[in-house]
Amino acid sequence: MSIDMQTIEGWIARASEAGIWGEDGLIQAETGSDKAEALVYRRSVKQSGKTTFAMLKVADASREGPVFSWDRLLGIFAPGDVLKGFEGQAVELSRGKALFAPLSHANAEALRRTLPFTAPSALADQPITFGTGDRLGSAGPGHLRAMAGYRVCPVLAQQSVRELELTGRDYGQVLDAATWAVFQEGYEGPWGADGDHLKSEEWVRTALQIGFTFITADVSDYIRNEYAAADEDEVLAAYERIRAEERKRIEDTYLPLAIELDTGERIRFTREILARTVLIYAEAIRHALRLYRAGVEIKAEGAFDFELSVDETETPTTPEAHLFVALEAQRLEMKIGSIAPRFVGEFQKGIDYIGDTEEFRRTFATHAALARHFGHRVSVHSGSDKFSVFPIVGELTGGRFHIKTAGTHWLEAMKTIAAHEPQLYRRLHRAALERFEAARRYYVVTTDLDKVPSLDEIADADLPSLFEKRDSRQLIHITYGELLKDEELGPCFYDALHRHREAYCSAVELHTKHHLESLGVLRSGS
Ligand code: ZN
Repeated sequence: MSIDMQTIEGWIARASEAGIWGEDGLIQAETGSDKAEALVYRRSVKQSGKTTFAMLKVADASREGPVFSWDRLLGIFAPGDVLKGFEGQAVELSRGKALFAPLSHANAEALRRTLPFTAPSALADQPITFGTGDRLGSAGPGHLRAMAGYRVCPVLAQQSVRELELTGRDYGQVLDAATWAVFQEGYEGPWGADGDHLKSEEWVRTALQIGFTFITADVSDYIRNEYAAADEDEVLAAYERIRAEERKRIEDTYLPLAIELDTGERIRFTREILARTVLIYAEAIRHALRLYRAGVEIKAEGAFDFELSVDETETPTTPEAHLFVALEAQRLEMKIGSIAPRFVGEFQKGIDYIGDTEEFRRTFATHAALARHFGHRVSVHSGSDKFSVFPIVGELTGGRFHIKTAGTHWLEAMKTIAAHEPQLYRRLHRAALERFEAARRYYVVTTDLDKVPSLDEIADADLPSLFEKRDSRQLIHITYGELLKDEELGPCFYDALHRHREAYCSAVELHTKHHLESLGVLRSGS
């Protein structure tokens, strides 16, 4: 938005009436009043030296309608002339200066330098981290309000390259949205920013240069899954083609190895399992090292979190594979913070776990024990809405894990639209049905469109109930890119979400708390 003097003068007039405006700008002590509620996010008000920072709510003239709407501006109030590094509209005060600053990239960067809690950091020593993957840039406040009451550390900016492409955003925008959310909510704890599922050295460098602090290395293109299904002769023949000295190193290391886990379980390699594991994962480990080294070029070791993800493959990660990957990483001196195995069963997007929960419990116990043995954490991807396995994750890791959610917050956004703007929801839903096949190529889902109730048979008031059903959830879940890219529907959607942002924020807060409770995350102070 452009900031005209009229908007600023209007805000100052209302602030004076509310008693929060004085000779040197915002009167911090008064910002907790009821009257201030419509003018400033009270938790955002912060002092740095003699300068006061606050997230302001300014009347939004460009939007009309029954719902009062506002836009956000950064307000900086300083005695003298110490507003270096920020851009915006300056106003001379009788004592000092005020700057009304747009939520621009330059201002987000300046804020990260000035108020360090608005910048992400490495989280290696945090027991529980929760990736939120806000695709729309507006879920952050809801996530923070939920997590404020729990012993959990948010990874607010978490986006894969695929998500960037589908939403038309870049890493700068993703990071800035998180910074503004942190500032708005006055969250001063540590938080992370995850360049999710990065496959190339170039993307690792890009994410870290912009200020991300967490890299999820995706080595799936180098995992040779064909050897998981190959018969023994084929595996041993292929293994013989590996250089003799490399084979010797591997056999000398792994064949005598017998790792005893704290669960009492022992892991040993037979010759065949070793050959198979090496064939499937050796190239992937070499690629992980390339990605890691690209990261170390930009940020020092330990200054960023490095997760190794092997989850995007067809076959579940075996205990031997987990062990092999972890031990090779150690040998190559990669500091791995977390490993994301592919678990048994199906972790489809936005719906509950599909599979045998007892089998999940049994195999997850081994992964959790391996993680303890090596000192990294288990990472659970596609973690949205997996309520039937969350208690197992919380229990068996002893409260040390990383989890990634993303799409479920987009579903909460669509549910908010369904509740408040049924006509718009119907248009979005119809477009999703039309474009489902196009969207499907990006995702592994078993959606049956015949099971999605027909819109003609649903009353407006019942539209939100669509989000209780698996097939309609997935229909909306995977078509987000198609809907957001639509020249007409995309802006309508964002506009509607803007109008109902507080309702959206509450929905995200509630849904996130549901995740935390189910995972057994302790409340702060307990
Ligand atoms: Zn993943």
